[in-house]
Amino acid sequence: MAKYNPFDEFIKVMESAARVMGINEEDYVTFKYPEREIKVSMPVRMDDGTLKVFEGFRVQHSSVRGPSKGGVRYHHAVNADEVRALAAWMTFKCAVVAIPYGGGKGGIICRPREMSKGELERLTRAYTDKIAANIGPSIDIPAPDVGSNAQTMDWMVDEYCKVKGESLYGVVTGKSIEIGGSKGRAEATGRGVCFVTLETMKKYGLNPADCKVVIQGMGNVGSVSAKLLAEEGVRITAVSDVSCALYNEKGLDIADIYSYIDGGRNLLDGYKGDCIKITNAELLELPCDFLIPAALENQITAENADRIKASFIIEAANGPTTVEADAILEKKGIKVIPDILSNSGGVIVSYFEWVQNLQNFYWDEDDVNAKLKRQIVNAFNDVYEAREKYGCSYRIAAYIVALNRLVTARKLRG
Ligand code: GLU
Repeated sequence: MAKYNPFDEFIKVMESAARVMGINEEDYVTFKYPEREIKVSMPVRMDDGTLKVFEGFRVQHSSVRGPSKGGVRYHHAVNADEVRALAAWMTFKCAVVAIPYGGGKGGIICRPREMSKGELERLTRAYTDKIAANIGPSIDIPAPDVGSNAQTMDWMVDEYCKVKGESLYGVVTGKSIEIGGSKGRAEATGRGVCFVTLETMKKYGLNPADCKVVIQGMGNVGSVSAKLLAEEGVRITAVSDVSCALYNEKGLDIADIYSYIDGGRNLLDGYKGDCIKITNAELLELPCDFLIPAALENQITAENADRIKASFIIEAANGPTTVEADAILEKKGIKVIPDILSNSGGVIVSYFEWVQNLQNFYWDEDDVNAKLKRQIVNAFNDVYEAREKYGCSYRIAAYIVALNRLVTARKLRG
């Protein structure tokens, strides 16, 4: 992980896109610098009576196109460089899918799976107190990310409303439906991945029932993507979580695996279905039509890129492919649909949640899903056209679409 500074990787990609577009450094230099970075510490009384101090971050990369927007990651390896990159990716993600936000991201160094509910609540409330002055429905709007969920957001909105003394549901998204969450938000990132995968198949004349798909990661994004793609008749031949990967060339029983992990069993170790166990590294190198990395950053690197046998990669995680790996994949003719487009379903429905909160008028799930489909497919087509026009990769095309909108907004604001 330390070998790749994800923020440097972000700058490299942005600069490549700027070169292809032929714009001047002055047009985009501001995006090399986050607007605001906050580092906080949270003393938390643990269940065993000891006091533990946790560290956290909130980075607001840009507010050029609207308030900063992005999740809060709860992970033991989260660090300032990673959060800075994740915040910048949010700026570009919101721009490429044309929703009126800038980008932000937060992180807390912790091991959420090893903490009790009470400890997590106290940590979340302490973090919210520390950043309360700098977030808000028109300033910066946190959401769930790796290691956080609707419950985390429910505590955050409660704490924020207490601090402010008013009901401001639009301060965070990804909340439970009972307290201002949107229908369809929990599944939105995976649903978006599914729409992007199906759209790619359509563009290349592929029949979903003939496609073999491999998915790395069975967290919220990976598991929902697997479930929805399987419902479309796609053959999912391998999935994994942190403990191991499961493989069956003829296709896995995704509904069965889904109910297995949904029952609170997060590890696939005990799963007894019709499949063999392989490692995560082996999973990435399986022959397939579509590889969907849905775990963490830096999974496809210069180390293993040459051994990837997929025809397409749909990046459901943020930053799974390094810049060096990208070049290798491009030479091999593997098409990579980039994270800022593929996994944008979450933030798109976060935007719908925020709109519903501001209007106090709530939509039904079909309406949310239909609007999500329209927004993400339109973005896919914008990127597809830019790729045709500039003869570049999907990633550079997505950055071109985003940068165009960002630079225009920057110039109009003066
Ligand atoms: N954490 C998600 C992402 O990386 C969702 C962000 C949001 O909904 O604001 O896109």
